[in-house]
Amino acid sequence: MSDNVLFSQISKKIDTYRQQMIEFQKSLTRLKAISPGSGGNGEWDKAMFIKKFLEEKGIKEIQQIDAPDPQAKNGVRPNLIVRLPGKSSQRTIWIMAHLDVVPEGDLKLWKTDPFEVIEKDGRLYGRGTEDNQQSLTSAVFTVLAFHELGIQPEHDLAILLVADEETGSNFGLSFILNNHPDLFKKEDIIIVPDAGEPDGSMIEVAEKGILWLKFTTKGKQCHASLPDQGINAFTAASHLVVRLQRLYEIFNKKSDVFIPPISTFEPTKKEANIPNVNTIPGEDIFYLDCRILPDYSVEQVLSEVRKICDTVETEFNVKIQFEVVQNEEATPATPIDAPVVQMLKKGIKEIYGVEAKPMGIGGGTVAAIFRRAGLPAAVWSTIDDVCHQPNEYCIIDNMVNDTKVFAHICLQKI
Ligand SMILES: [Zn+2]
Repeated sequence: MSDNVLFSQISKKIDTYRQQMIEFQKSLTRLKAISPGSGGNGEWDKAMFIKKFLEEKGIKEIQQIDAPDPQAKNGVRPNLIVRLPGKSSQRTIWIMAHLDVVPEGDLKLWKTDPFEVIEKDGRLYGRGTEDNQQSLTSAVFTVLAFHELGIQPEHDLAILLVADEETGSNFGLSFILNNHPDLFKKEDIIIVPDAGEPDGSMIEVAEKGILWLKFTTKGKQCHASLPDQGINAFTAASHLVVRLQRLYEIFNKKSDVFIPPISTFEPTKKEANIPNVNTIPGEDIFYLDCRILPDYSVEQVLSEVRKICDTVETEFNVKIQFEVVQNEEATPATPIDAPVVQMLKKGIKEIYGVEAKPMGIGGGTVAAIFRRAGLPAAVWSTIDDVCHQPNEYCIIDNMVNDTKVFAHICLQKI
């Protein structure tokens, strides 16, 4: 059979799954897989439900990797790997999705019960329906389609369903990479469908480094009518905020893969100083959010920040300390000519008729964990990006069509 005939056969099969996928989403949502850290315990039940669902369909190659967590149900956080052998075992095509969901948040903002899926206007409303159950369902039904039709993917296919994505991945992907590094090969095709655009046009391949800094400026408090008796920490800190904008000039490289194409250095949070108007504050605290292109290291930025602080210290006779609140070095980008990117582009073009673009974002996706381990991963899905919001929904067509993109990739030769 030609590849086109095979694909149309699989595509038709996937269309017949539509109602089953909806039912699957409903069951998953009821299991309320909020992380123990956020006060939930449904992750285990969700993993067991998926395992049983697949086993009943005759899919037996399911590996469970438990990460010990005393807070969790049964003392562990379950991670699942479901495998389907392909024609070649040179590479594995991985589709990763996460089991956990974020809490519902303010219930008053929900129009319906967050954990009882409501189908309306081609959408499924409920917590987790988009993040990440849409892709989890697509991944599961990709495996099912090949299994039930008895068609072999070109390469081994594996879906990786991880715990703990929303609260740091220490019991999820990081645990797996630390304890089972041999599971992955550099040649593998790793797809992380956990971000994207409504038309499926974005393939995320790179992330900026993230650096959050807390600046404490110390002067001397005094009565506002006698400024000479003190040192105004607020005035000095205000000069510091302005001078920190020099970072934009010092770290001025551009990279068109990213939106925006530059490193950014933005003052954000400001802590309250004194409650009354007639006191000169002796202390000032503010924060800076830096998103750094992979061209620069966090160390380089910190050293320039120190120099800027020194100039303000000398000029205003204050003491300035800064503290690193968060520090994630940028990871090496997945090359835009990497097989995972090219295969996604082909599949997206075929199903959605869209020319997808590899892009970089400001940081914070789980794919960075793969990239840090030297594994080229790409992030893609077709979503409205309503994750973590009240009235979260998944568009059923996207769930079905993304499944076809995954299936298309499984049939591609490299
Ligand atoms: Zn997610």
